[in-house]
Amino acid sequence: MKFPSVSDIASTSVTHVDISCSIGDALDIMLEQDHRNIIVIDRDCFRLLTVIDVLNIQNNSMDLDMPLSKLDLKIIPTIHKDKNVLDTLEYLNESVEYICVVHSDNRLYGLVTNSDITSNIDPDTLMDNYKLIDFLKLGRRMKWVSRDIVTSVLLNDMIKNSFDNTIVVENMKPIGILTTKDIMKLIKQRSDLTLEISHYMSYPVDTIHKDASIKEALEFLRSKHYRRVVVVDDEGSLSGIIAQHELISLTYSKWVSLMKEYQEELHEINNLLKDKNREYEIKASTDSLTGLYNRYKFSELYLSSYSAMVQRHNEMSLLILDIDFFKRVNDTYGHNVGDNVLIKISHSLLKTLRNIDIVCRWGGEEFIALLPTASLKDAGKIAEKLRVFIENLEIETVGKVTVSIGIAQVVEGKSMQDIIDRADKALYLAKNSGRNCVKTENDILDTSKVKDS
Ligand code: GH3
Ligand code: MG
Ligand code: MG
Repeated sequence: MKFPSVSDIASTSVTHVDISCSIGDALDIMLEQDHRNIIVIDRDCFRLLTVIDVLNIQNNSMDLDMPLSKLDLKIIPTIHKDKNVLDTLEYLNESVEYICVVHSDNRLYGLVTNSDITSNIDPDTLMDNYKLIDFLKLGRRMKWVSRDIVTSVLLNDMIKNSFDNTIVVENMKPIGILTTKDIMKLIKQRSDLTLEISHYMSYPVDTIHKDASIKEALEFLRSKHYRRVVVVDDEGSLSGIIAQHELISLTYSKWVSLMKEYQEELHEINNLLKDKNREYEIKASTDSLTGLYNRYKFSELYLSSYSAMVQRHNEMSLLILDIDFFKRVNDTYGHNVGDNVLIKISHSLLKTLRNIDIVCRWGGEEFIALLPTASLKDAGKIAEKLRVFIENLEIETVGKVTVSIGIAQVVEGKSMQDIIDRADKALYLAKNSGRNCVKTENDILDTSKVKDS
């Protein structure tokens, strides 16, 4: 049994307009084509202009010459055209009325509506797609006998085994049937039960092929006013018998279990995706050696810290730390020992700095820390504490390692690069002042003043 693919049920003649189109033009198209909604193609998504949006536009007496991009139009979810219609289930809710069906390159293929979807995954579809043979396989009990069996023997057997009907066969081809109605007739007419069943059976038997769909079988039963259907194979031999109520209840229980199975599968896929996402997010935002934030993540965090600083009228400083003579460590002890030093320095940064500080490996043996709420003076104290902590570390194989630190204060209206440049200049000064020390951007000014005088 297969549910249709999304492209099978999508309507492909979809009226759409570009987001650069004016509101007025979009309205004209809607009116002209009598559409209550219209798809708006944005740069990397699809949006929906609805009648409600139109009412809003009128209420707010908006300029109809404005492009649609000025409106806050709802985004429509998209799904690849080859996906199974069941894949749309996760979108189904009251607020999603449409799903855009797209090609692999995200071009619009068509549109499916909520009702297209539900009508394609209801039990009716299942009845259309399941064959009688699928249900016969489930082992329905059936009674079949040859035409010469004595009626009383058969009736006794039917009572014993609680069968209310029997098919009479010849060479396995159904030639008659003894139903409840026939049995009632036998009793009423006080028939001679010593006769063979062929005297009393109803014939010929209406049969249906095993490959018929459940829907066809139900229609067949309805038109003939039968309660059961006798199913035969290609040769006309008896395959089984199945009752109307069984067909319906089997279809529904199959539908329920399919839905449940699919929901569970979706749930599992969802959880897997969430885990993967988390993993990728961490990978994309951290430095693999030290576990500190990488440049990319730092830049992102810088922006949010900067906004907070401006909003709260706080101060904020930034320090750059560079390990002194690190090349020597590598040259003397090898790269692995060097790596271990980098890890130890990262730990020192995390240990010494405050929880609110944002620590990043900027590259090589250089680290940057953003110190929210810290003035240049506060940052100086924090940096000095860090420098002393590292100076006093005893690192395996290497022993003592020192660092130089440059600090600058974030200035409103200046870029991240600007503060990094100023902190870098202070670091350069620290290196030139003999290393293992902290310098601020003010120290640069002081030294240039000394030079000038
Ligand atoms: P200075 O005191 O002037 O900073 O001298 P330095 O030797 O620390 O500076 P330099 O820039 O000359 O050398 C930095 C070294 O850091 C060179 C490079 O091989 C090493 N390095 C960069 N990234 C890594 C890394 O991931 N692991 C290791 N082990 N070494 C690294
Ligand atoms: Mg360096
Ligand atoms: Mg260095």
